[in-house]
Parts: sequence; structure tokens; C-alpha cells
Amino acid sequence: MLKLTSNQNCCGCTACASICPKGCIAVTPDSEGFCYPQIDEANCINCGLCEKVCPLLRKPAQHDVLNVYGAKNSDDSVRFTSSSGGMFTLFAEWVLNSGGTIFGAELDENLQVRHTAIESTDALPKLRGSKYVQSNMTGVFKQVRTLLNSDKPVLFSGTPCQIAGLKGFLMKDYANLFTVDVVCHGVPSAKVYNKHLQEIAAAAGEAVQQVKFRDKANGWKQGETLFLTEHQRFGAPKRQETYMRLFLNNVSIRPSCADCAFNNKRSLADITIADYWGVDKQFPEFDDDKGVTLVLINTAKGQQLFDDVKSAASLISTDFAKGAQYNVAVSKSLGLHPKRQYFFDNLDRKTLKELEQEILPQ
Ligand SMILES: Cc1cc2nc3c(=O)[nH]c(=O)nc-3n(C[C@H](O)[C@H](O)[C@H](O)COP(=O)(O)OP(=O)(O)OC[C@H]3O[C@@H](n4cnc5c(N)ncnc54)[C@H](O)[C@@H]3O)c2cc1C
Repeated sequence: MLKLTSNQNCCGCTACASICPKGCIAVTPDSEGFCYPQIDEANCINCGLCEKVCPLLRKPAQHDVLNVYGAKNSDDSVRFTSSSGGMFTLFAEWVLNSGGTIFGAELDENLQVRHTAIESTDALPKLRGSKYVQSNMTGVFKQVRTLLNSDKPVLFSGTPCQIAGLKGFLMKDYANLFTVDVVCHGVPSAKVYNKHLQEIAAAAGEAVQQVKFRDKANGWKQGETLFLTEHQRFGAPKRQETYMRLFLNNVSIRPSCADCAFNNKRSLADITIADYWGVDKQFPEFDDDKGVTLVLINTAKGQQLFDDVKSAASLISTDFAKGAQYNVAVSKSLGLHPKRQYFFDNLDRKTLKELEQEILPQ
């Protein structure tokens, strides 16, 4: 039976709950809003499957990265609504055009972040763009397995720990599975995000209707985080906006993100995508401030997928060291902010703005 000795040992991927043959593992949020398994010990048969599939009990070794590119989707309208260079959309379109299904994170009708499946390119806009909240994965791994067993191509996208959790859960390789992960320095909890939505709604006197984590109207590098109500617009460049400052400074992120097991050439995905920060310094002629995706090819299958879509993109060839030079999360975890515990201890007592001002004074 899975025994959690520290919250740092669980990434909340849901593999354990999904594999349990007795359905006796529930994944529920703790006081910080991060989900952890709760085992109904009375019904547990000690089969050991939950331990077998846990990605943090079997951390991967480093592997070679086959190729690294800076890439821009040739369709500027797609790039505008993507967080970086819009390469995720090209991979997804290829799989959809082959009759497949895409899994990724969407903002649902209540602005909650959850993993969902789509089967048509019309639905792709909802998966496009980063949502900086840990996504709800309830029931998703089993849905992926059912589709894989029907021999349909499936592209699963998510954070590196979600990919690792899926691979653990599946327990075997599938030729029809393609995986794409995002470089990720950490995920905030849905509780912190919902508190922000509520505080904005209280200030506006009306509910938030739309969230744009990385709006590019003023350029990719500036990237604004926007919360729109019916009549008002709240937001700021991402490095000045309260929610994003708490996220980017590792205050509001999950404990297991302090020391990610899947960065620095340890991703289990076929392809890893990230922002190509620093491309303006290394390849100034390639940067138009509309977004460049850093694409790391981890497997031969990933290379094949990339080669199949690359005619719809502009590319430069680069390398791992260059890609990581201005993007720490590619190769390192930076731990948690020293006042993270204070932040979560006071989350129910103070506003996010108050906590931001105390913890991250400008
Ligand atoms: C929580 C998080 C942290 C990140 N941290 C970094 C970082 O530190 N450095 C960096 O370079 N890049 C980071 N990224 C990745 C970056 O923001 C872009 O998503 C990436 O560069 C791909 O951009 P794109 O334009 O090619 O595609 P986009 O269309 O922007 O990519 C969308 C993809 O992101 C996935 N996605 C969106 N939100 C989530 C979510 N909440 N959980 C799981 N998957 C999600 C979708 O399923 C889809 O596959 C992070 C992304 C997330 C979600």
C-alpha cells in the first residue's frame, strides 16, 4: 500500500487511484488545495499496483535529447493564441487528421482547469495556451487506455509528471500513443487560483468571465495576465500581476515541484515544448516577439512527428545548452520560496494581494 512520508513525494498525477482494482483510492485536496491520494485501508487488498505505477517511486534516469529546435507555427493567428510559438497545435492537428484524439488542459465553463479529450480541430482552441493551475485529471488515464486499446492514435499532453503518471499507469508501450509535455517549473493549486477569481469578482462587483494567462497583444515577452468580467478588465504584465508573481516566484506551487524528477533530460514524453526565452539574444533575426517554442525531441517517435509537421513552421536548429541558457526550468528546479509555508498558513486569513505585498515586496 502506498505510504506518503512527505507531500514532496506526490505529484498528484492520479495514477494510483486510476489503477486501484478496488477503487479504494480517492484523490482529494488538502488544506493548500493540492490533491493527494486517500486510501480506504479497510478495502485495500495490498496488491501493490499503486506503488508500481507511482512515477515518483521510479524516477527516470537522464537520456539523450535527439534534437532541439526553435520553432514558430507559420499561422500567426494560431501563434497569437498560443503561449509560445504554437507548435502544440501542429502536433495536435497531425494526430486529429489521422483520426485520433487529443488530451490536454482546458478552462471549462466555470473557468476550472481540467484535462479533457477532443476529436476535432474545431475544439483545438480550448487546449491551446498555458493555464497556470494544476489541472483536474479525474478519470482521464482510464479514458486514454480505452482509446489506445481501440488502436486509435492518441496524443496526450500535459506536465512532465502527468506524462510520467500516464506511462506508469499504462504499464506498457503503445505504438499509437504520442506524448508532449511542457517544461514546467511548478503548478499552483486550484484553491489559490479560485481565491484570486473570487477576490477579483469582489473588487469588480461581477464574476470573472474569461482568463487569459498569457495575452500577447503587447508582445510575447511582456505577456499579460488578464481577468475579464462583463464590464471590466483586470490584469498586468505577467511579472507584475499578483497571481503570476506568486506562481513565478515559487510561492504558490506544489511541494513536489521543489525538486522535479522530470526536468533536465528526464522527460518521458516524445516531445517537450517550452518558451524559447533568450532566442532574441541567440538568434535575433528569428525573434519577432510573437512567440517561439523551444522543441526538445526525446524519442525517435517524437522526431517522426516533428518531421511530419515541420513544413508548417519556421525553424532554427539549436541545442540543449542554448535552450536552457535563459530558461532555468529546462534543466533545474529552484526549490520553494522560503515564505511558501507562511503563504499557505495564511491563505484563508489574508487576501492574495496582502500576501504578495508581504512576501514579494516591490
Ligand atoms: C503549469 C505550467 C508551467 C509552465 N512553466 C514553464 C516554464 O517554467 N518555462 C517554460 O519555458 N515553459 C513553461 N510552460 C510551458 C509554456 O507555457 C508553453 O505551454 C509551451 O512553451 C508551449 O507553447 P506552444 O505555443 O507550443 O503551445 P500552447 O498551445 O501554448 O500549449 C498548450 C499545451 O499546454 C498544455 N497545458 C496547458 N495548461 C496546462 C496545465 N495546467 N497542465 C498541463 N498541461 C497544460 C496543453 O494541454 C497543451 O498541450 C509551462 C506550462 C504550464 C502549463
